[in-house]
Amino acid sequence: MRRTKIVATVGPASSTREGIAALVGAGADVLRLNCSHLTTEALRGVIADVRAAAPDAAVLVDIQGPKMRYSGEETTLVTGGTVTMGTDILGLDTGLRRSEDLGLQVGHRVLMDDGRLECRIARLGGAEVDLTVVRGGLLRRNKGVNLPDTEVFGGVLSSKDIDDIETARSSGADMVAISFVQHPDDVTRVRQMVGPEMLIIAKIERPQALERLEDICRVSDGVMAARGDLGVELPYEELPTSQHRIALTALKMGIISICATEMLESMITSGRPTRAEVADVSAAVRDGFDAVMLSAESAVGHNPPLAVESMGRICEVAEKTVSMPNHFADENPQTAAVTAAAAALAKRTSADWVLSLTYTGYSARLLAACRPSAPIIAVTPEASAARRLRIAWGVCPVVQSRDASMTRAIEDGMRAARESMHITSGQRVVICASRTSPRSDADTLLLHVEP
Ligand code: PGA
Ligand code: MN
Repeated sequence: MRRTKIVATVGPASSTREGIAALVGAGADVLRLNCSHLTTEALRGVIADVRAAAPDAAVLVDIQGPKMRYSGEETTLVTGGTVTMGTDILGLDTGLRRSEDLGLQVGHRVLMDDGRLECRIARLGGAEVDLTVVRGGLLRRNKGVNLPDTEVFGGVLSSKDIDDIETARSSGADMVAISFVQHPDDVTRVRQMVGPEMLIIAKIERPQALERLEDICRVSDGVMAARGDLGVELPYEELPTSQHRIALTALKMGIISICATEMLESMITSGRPTRAEVADVSAAVRDGFDAVMLSAESAVGHNPPLAVESMGRICEVAEKTVSMPNHFADENPQTAAVTAAAAALAKRTSADWVLSLTYTGYSARLLAACRPSAPIIAVTPEASAARRLRIAWGVCPVVQSRDASMTRAIEDGMRAARESMHITSGQRVVICASRTSPRSDADTLLLHVEP
């Protein structure tokens, strides 16, 4: 059984109901809808389509955030020259008009077209900036603009972002990802909008987010190593160590982590990944990410299910070589004492399964953070909690009503586990349960040997 989860982005190549079902059939656990390419109305429709075609899969709505794009005429920037551009042309539109009010400072870098072109701010002048061209070239309309040195003032959510978040919430999406997070407040603002249960994933794609990584993790349910923009804003040679730090920090803090972008890029057109891509997916598994993500490969690629299948095979083989220490319990000996004991018991007894009885899925997520040696079967009465658990490492969620008596709940849970997994005579099952519904550590632990 594969432990690492697969997030597949739904796009034109996969957005019919058959296409969505094929992604899940190939092994996708979470379906990502990218708001950069969807109107709010279209988003509502796609969420409904995904629910209809794949009722058990989790839906992740990825909010665009302040992605900047050059909106001027095609022009050639000459290395060493100077150009004047309006801040609106650079895609800076946070409602603040004067360049001085946006956080821009003389000397800050302005990167264009995935970092291919580089300028520096020479002068700020109201709604315009003078740029010195450090690395020139042809600049086409719509190319991305990144400001790695600038902490952009104002929140990261546009009015479309706010509409998209509200649509995600009212349509019953399971998780939202927030782009270009700079500060924990960007996450807490979204928390106020979506309520306590929907998972919030902070996309780490700015140096300012890396600097505040621990504080951002503290208020988020998960983080994404969003290597597309992060790889532009950081020197690219720093990307592998940064992604490693993101995975490790998430593990220590007991939250979800996703490794994203260009993982099997060549499979957009090819039937096989490159060796470097295979090594990249394998490295993400060894970093300890909960999930790996497909972007264009599944959204616009020639064979989305094949990309999902290939990713699954690479993960499964990589996992055989990984035995993760319990970083979470080492860092938090008090918060998850019973859950950590369950993971330790599973290891000590070479248990075949861990059964988690959970309400909201929270204690099952704590268990996953302990990275037990055996797969986790998480039994919850809530279909929505089961869907949210689709992103958690090593968790196979099952929906089953919960009896108030613990003895009965365990019997029912074991029966549900037998129905969804092949539990054979003599196998050991560590059972870990929480008696109460609010977010808390498990409080009950026992070892079952299947008769
Ligand atoms: P994006 O985010 O695809 O929405 O830009 C992911 C990334 O930047 O890696
Ligand atoms: Mn991005």
